[in-house]
Amino acid sequence: MNVLALNAGSSSLKFKLMSDNEIIADGLLEKIGGLATVNLNVAGVAIKKEETLENHYQAILYLISLLNKHQLDKFDAIGHRVVHGGDKYFQAVAINKKVLADIDRFSQLAPLHNPINLKVIKICRKLFPKTKMIAVFDTAFHQTMPKEEYTYAIPWQWQVKHQIRKYGFHGISHQYLSSKITKETKARKIITCHLGNGCSISAIKDGKCLATSMGFTPNAGLMMGTRSGDIDAMIIPYLLNYYSLEEINQKLNFESGLQGLSEVSNDFRLIEKNLDQENCQLAFNKFVRMIVKYIAEYYVLLDDVEAIVFAGGIGTNSKLLREKVLEKLKVFDIIIDKKANQENQFLITKENSKIKGYVLKTDEELMIIETIKEMI
Ligand code: ADP
Repeated sequence: MNVLALNAGSSSLKFKLMSDNEIIADGLLEKIGGLATVNLNVAGVAIKKEETLENHYQAILYLISLLNKHQLDKFDAIGHRVVHGGDKYFQAVAINKKVLADIDRFSQLAPLHNPINLKVIKICRKLFPKTKMIAVFDTAFHQTMPKEEYTYAIPWQWQVKHQIRKYGFHGISHQYLSSKITKETKARKIITCHLGNGCSISAIKDGKCLATSMGFTPNAGLMMGTRSGDIDAMIIPYLLNYYSLEEINQKLNFESGLQGLSEVSNDFRLIEKNLDQENCQLAFNKFVRMIVKYIAEYYVLLDDVEAIVFAGGIGTNSKLLREKVLEKLKVFDIIIDKKANQENQFLITKENSKIKGYVLKTDEELMIIETIKEMI
């Protein structure tokens, strides 16, 4: 069985191909829209180069032509990561006209993501009209949250009329992380921390999400590379006295978070490098504080926790961040193993630590493939 997983961003395309239960090709095309960076692996051959790819159509054609050279361009199914499935999709679905219309409808809720997902699906349907297409939604995993978690305390009619509620994102990643930890360690009560450019934390019990930090949009919860995370909603009407709505939107999404506070960078490596600067120290400390607050809240929600997982570029690489977070959680009898943490080992807490800490690379494309394997 050959299954291709596609994960399209506004200017990127990640993919993974499973053939006969083995990952035979994977990689990333970035900066699509001009001179793109190609970094992939096909049947053991590494390809790193620049290639002019004006749009996602050209990127997909290019990818297929590379796979074709190794007779790897026949698929039983193609899985697409779709960011928003609204409150309708609890799980992955085979794509038909109705699903396409829904993805289009939910573009209103995810204007930066769903349109590009839709575009890539349509391209693939044209190129492979006989191949089964499956949508795997980033919001689906969070659909098990109880009502009191996903509801905001705002007029009820706003939820009814405008679908204002918490949806949560990064669901494919949180699902991958928790299922992998359960497989490896048997833990059932897990807090997963996906800390990359976008950051979110989820509380998971028996494979089901009970709470997550992102909300109606991916701007909620933790502060991130350039997103503010949670702020007092009344700041926005106040700022409207001075700035346009577009300006405020731009600042909260693209000029806040680590970037906004540090005034140095959204890149966590540079924040760490410049900790002698007051604003970088503040950005670092605020980030740690927000993570610790969510973990403490979710500890209570889960009624105890067995595993805390660190993932994403920051979670898997920043020893300092993990150390500071786990040290602040010592009230929960977490004992960090400093040597294991320095070595980026899988288990980074001591044997006698009541809650175990883990470092794990997330793999959304593999999760998409595994989901599809169960469906077909
Ligand atoms: P995305 O959410 O776009 O997939 P990533 O998961 O790749 O992003 O995470 C990007 C973040 O990871 C950036 O803030 C980057 O600085 C940080 N990061 C990458 N490597 C390191 C490292 N060695 N130490 C600290 N932070 C790192």
